[in-house]
Amino acid sequence: MDSCDGEVAWRFGAAKPELAAADGEIRMRALVSRIYGCVDASDPRPVVPLASGDPTPFACFRTAPAAEEAVTAAVASGKHNGYPSATGVTEACSAVATYLSRYLPYELSTGDVVLTAGCNHGIEIMMAVLATPGANVLLPRPGYPLYEARAALSGLKFLHYDLLPEKGWEVDIQGVKALANENTVAMVIVNPNNPSGAVYSSHHLAKIAETARELGIMVISDEVYEHFVFGNKPFVPMGVFGEIAPVVTLGGISKRWMVPGWKLGWIAMTDPKGILRKKKIFASIIVYRGISVDPAAIVQGAIPQIIANTDETFFTNAMNVMRETAEICYQKLKGIKGVTCPHKPEGSMFVMVKLDMSCFCGIDDDIEFCCKLAKEESVVISPGSGLEMKNWLRISIAVDPPLLEDGLERVKSFCLRHVKPIIMNQAS
Ligand SMILES: *Cc1c(COP(=O)(O)O)cnc(C)c1O
Repeated sequence: MDSCDGEVAWRFGAAKPELAAADGEIRMRALVSRIYGCVDASDPRPVVPLASGDPTPFACFRTAPAAEEAVTAAVASGKHNGYPSATGVTEACSAVATYLSRYLPYELSTGDVVLTAGCNHGIEIMMAVLATPGANVLLPRPGYPLYEARAALSGLKFLHYDLLPEKGWEVDIQGVKALANENTVAMVIVNPNNPSGAVYSSHHLAKIAETARELGIMVISDEVYEHFVFGNKPFVPMGVFGEIAPVVTLGGISKRWMVPGWKLGWIAMTDPKGILRKKKIFASIIVYRGISVDPAAIVQGAIPQIIANTDETFFTNAMNVMRETAEICYQKLKGIKGVTCPHKPEGSMFVMVKLDMSCFCGIDDDIEFCCKLAKEESVVISPGSGLEMKNWLRISIAVDPPLLEDGLERVKSFCLRHVKPIIMNQAS
């Protein structure tokens, strides 16, 4: 036996293969930190952070005063210092159930809602609960890499269906039908969509529900961007179609209230026929939740007031800023050779942009594009390769409008500098 410390033969040290698999899937963070590493520290200009979907550094995206007051009051009350119950503080679950029911054709009860430590925790729970031997889930591409990572870690297989840029990033319904097999248990949708910025119509959601019914699978609808819409389409919860196929809705206050650090999310059984209960999925969720972490009691305690007291003007103002940044982004990108934006963002904090590598000189792919851009212009953008979308970019538009404008001007100068001369001649 191997011995590396005197006479002791340590028995541990093998890397867990599931962790290695999850790590491979969650390359995005590593890629983004590599791109931050390319920034030239001697550039006096501010770094323009267009990689992450965290608007909290910008004053225009500060959360509602009512939300801050609710947390302050929860602390001051002294009532939220203990262990909360295993599915969440009852008043908080009840407030979330009432809030979600406003937009559904049926009422959720307190018991239909389980509170989680952010929406990511909901993803963790669902991927673990569905990981029965041999089972697989259908995940969107481009998507949100935590699904792949959490599925891999739980030993749940996954298959990718495509979102179609030429169809406003709708789900490739035929692709889903072709991909599903007898071991498929669920499909995940993200609406409003990160990373494409699409918002799905009622008609499209109904088709998704009918497809799920035909396949005998549930829909997991990631609605962490619920109501985070600034185009022409309203937000429609997938739960509206819960009569057709059972829907598990994942959500939270991270995005709509712009407090991702507060770590408060939920899993809601938007399943009026009670199929998830019958099939023991709900019971599994409760067990898994009971043996994992609780969201902070303080934030749970504040939830009823956060929901009740946030002024509608907070949301309206925030969406007005997003509408402005979406417009800035779309218009600026239109004027850049080698870059196309197939669909103007209507929701979420992101947009996907396609690179035409044949236009550029000395840049081979999206990763190299992002590294050189960071080095020369101090603009940090996520390469699509982190989402299995080689030669695409994912741009965050949840940025202070003047800074976004400055950043995209720099992208334009960068592209002009690196575009092939022949193409420049054609353009002029
Ligand atoms: C941000 C995000 C999450 C994570 O939400 P938290 O509440 O911060 O954990 C989950 N899903 C998608 C699609 C997201 O963009």
